[in-house]
Amino acid sequence: MNTLHHGFWTYIAMRKRKDVVKYAIIGSLVPDLVYYIMFFYILFFGDIFTSQPIEEIGWSGVLHDMAHALFAHPVVEVLRQAGHSFAVWLFFYIIVVFFKGWKLNKWTGFLYGWLGHIIIDLLTHVEDAVPIFYPFSMKVIRGPISYWDDDHYGDIFSLLNGILMATAILWILIKKVNANRKKRSL
Ligand SMILES: [Zn+2]
Repeated sequence: MNTLHHGFWTYIAMRKRKDVVKYAIIGSLVPDLVYYIMFFYILFFGDIFTSQPIEEIGWSGVLHDMAHALFAHPVVEVLRQAGHSFAVWLFFYIIVVFFKGWKLNKWTGFLYGWLGHIIIDLLTHVEDAVPIFYPFSMKVIRGPISYWDDDHYGDIFSLLNGILMATAILWILIKKVNANRKKRSL
């Protein structure tokens, strides 16, 4: 799923735990963080973003090449697979549980946010799914739908996800307004 949407749904799921929600949101963004860091890295240090290619293939061509360079970059490839691997997650989870206990705290909150990202991506990536037990197994489990690919219901997913997000925002706003009204009438 889209990185920001991961953050949004994690906020919805964890918002009642005010002490933990921040860490859970950070955890839910972590698997995709590498794209943003490397995007700027390629932007500044790559040689595709110079005036000559812009003249030759235009801005959209340059951006397209950049997206390709990004996902083909070995650092992105390794960290993308590691960040979306249940095996890597479990390794960190065991360490955290050992030192901090399994109860919900900022450490486990971070890891549950991260786990939520892995599970959602497992269900919403088809052609671009990553090996879930990387680096121990390269077996790829493809999700039933893709969050972007129209060949795998990407259009329906985007529409539904958009409606659900709008509904969730509306729901929270209505609850807030009602809570304020109650406070005032007391
Ligand atoms: Zn992801």
